[in-house]
Amino acid sequence: MSLRGELYFAYTAILELMPDMQQEFLVAWSGVQDHRDLSAWLRWAVDGLLDMAERDHGPSVDSRIGQWRANCPLCAREELSRLNRGFAYPIGLNRHLSGSHGMKRCSVVAAAHWLAVDNIRYFDTRTREGADFKGPWWSDRPKPWLEQAKPAPAGPPANVVQLRPPPADQLPAE
Ligand SMILES: [Zn+2]
Repeated sequence: MSLRGELYFAYTAILELMPDMQQEFLVAWSGVQDHRDLSAWLRWAVDGLLDMAERDHGPSVDSRIGQWRANCPLCAREELSRLNRGFAYPIGLNRHLSGSHGMKRCSVVAAAHWLAVDNIRYFDTRTREGADFKGPWWSDRPKPWLEQAKPAPAGPPANVVQLRPPPADQLPAE
């Protein structure tokens, strides 16, 4: 097997070890077909994973100023610090997950990122090879990051009772 093939299996295995809820955001890499997809998917996944992180004030210097701390919901890695536990939430954890601001990207996100980038390479090569290229079997995979947030239902929620004055002829007689 080629090195590329071996990496594919190794990185896929890492994602399979994640709990179902976290996995949902990561395996959506298969819908990534170009660089626009890549950044949209990553933003969507990081946002979703941030929502899922268990945060607490912990025994940290930050608890005195009300700053949340959270461990990574994927690799459970804690930021190494003598005074703090977990990453500052959400900024520190966001940087860990997205690998921004010079922070090393979370290894689990990095695995999904590699698969997404490899997918783009695959589409690029095959598209150049022939106009009749239909894409691999997974090319019709959904792009959940494109799904619009559900619109709010029209009118008040069902549990709100609308008070309407009774018709004049039904008003109690004085
Ligand atoms: Zn992590």
